Amino acid sequence: MTVRESAIVVGGGIIGCSIAYELTKRGFAVTLLDKGGLNEEASTAAAGMLGAHVEIHHDGPFYELCKESQRMYRPWTEELYELTGISPQYTPEGIVRAALTEDDELELRGRLPWIGCSWLSADEIRALEPALSPNVRGGLYFESDHQIHPLHLARSLQAALQLSGCRVMPWMPALGVIRENGRVCGVRCPQGPLYADRVIVTAGAWGGELLEGAGLKLPLFPVKGQCFAVRPASLPIRKTAFTQGCYIIPRQDGTLTIGATQLEVGFDKQPTAAGIAAVYAKAEALLPCVKEAAFLKTWAGLRPGTPDGLPYIGGVAGAPGLIVATGHYRNGILLAPVTAKLIGQLASGETPSTDLAPYTPERVHAAQA
Ligand SMILES: Cc1cc2nc3c(=O)[nH]c(=O)nc-3n(C[C@H](O)[C@H](O)[C@H](O)COP(=O)(O)OP(=O)(O)OC[C@H]3O[C@@H](n4cnc5c(N)ncnc54)[C@H](O)[C@@H]3O)c2cc1C
Repeated sequence: MTVRESAIVVGGGIIGCSIAYELTKRGFAVTLLDKGGLNEEASTAAAGMLGAHVEIHHDGPFYELCKESQRMYRPWTEELYELTGISPQYTPEGIVRAALTEDDELELRGRLPWIGCSWLSADEIRALEPALSPNVRGGLYFESDHQIHPLHLARSLQAALQLSGCRVMPWMPALGVIRENGRVCGVRCPQGPLYADRVIVTAGAWGGELLEGAGLKLPLFPVKGQCFAVRPASLPIRKTAFTQGCYIIPRQDGTLTIGATQLEVGFDKQPTAAGIAAVYAKAEALLPCVKEAAFLKTWAGLRPGTPDGLPYIGGVAGAPGLIVATGHYRNGILLAPVTAKLIGQLASGETPSTDLAPYTPERVHAAQA
């Protein structure tokens, strides 16, 4: 009889759930822990844009990684839908990235040599979305930057985990990692130790503390994003409208999701009047008719930020058995399928299909040295 390899995944946000699903499909016996219910943090506060083009400001390996994950998304969500009957609400409408200021226009024009699309005049932008402000100076249209609905994706993934036999343990915080004979082989929990061949830390903005116990000092910090939702009489846009510091996403249920602030204020995720007012002002400048919409609700989440804006994806030389997948900052929804694929390869002893050097957790120590 062959013995199944086992894995503990610590953190049930989109990254942890996607990895747990991938490892279960690869035959691992997987236990997924979360300190709360699953998907109650950044992953369900998110907007759900698959913004490989709109979010990335420089050419390079990270842009390529984002595009790879974007290409994986549709078949991945179709697979989840087929398995669970719960649609992640993949919406194949692009993103209109409109400039309202001269500085923003300059930044966007600076992307033209590598971004693979051309500058659109104000008239061309308003031909795509006529309800946008007459103050729009022009912009870019990213046709392949589609969306999903994060709440529906979370439900679909959680159902897929149940159906594929993953052991899911909500309200079970990992208090620290266990090392025996130099190898990371489990986690300490309030009910006692749990052991596995691999421990994968996917604890989002909270990962730093846990990893410190394993001797790995990774800078990770929360970046607060505040959003609100409104219901217009009828949807004024079909595509996501995005300008500097604000996006407006039309949802399949007739509402608009509008976000988001970007504040480093610790682990406080209470929306504030000032934060929502700042986002609202930008939204009204971009789409004036938003002021007539019925107000629905506000919320906030904590993006896992890193000093260089890149995620930590990979193993750690001094801690065999330990794998890290966190720090996805503004792009964790987009990067979920490719992160799961790469961690699946790594955990199975395969050579990852993408060079993980730019994302290795050890780059921090290299930089310090
Ligand atoms: C307002 C907002 C808008 C966003 N919009 C987008 C977008 O449009 N597109 C996009 O790609 N990304 C977006 N993001 C970013 C995206 O949400 C994050 O990058 C992503 O959710 C990170 O996922 P995660 O699983 O690493 O973290 P989280 O979702 O935060 O999950 C981490 C989990 O780990 C658990 N945990 C922590 N410590 C422990 C412990 N010790 N033991 C057990 N469990 C633990 C937590 O309870 C939590 O459930 C947005 C984020 C915000 C806040």
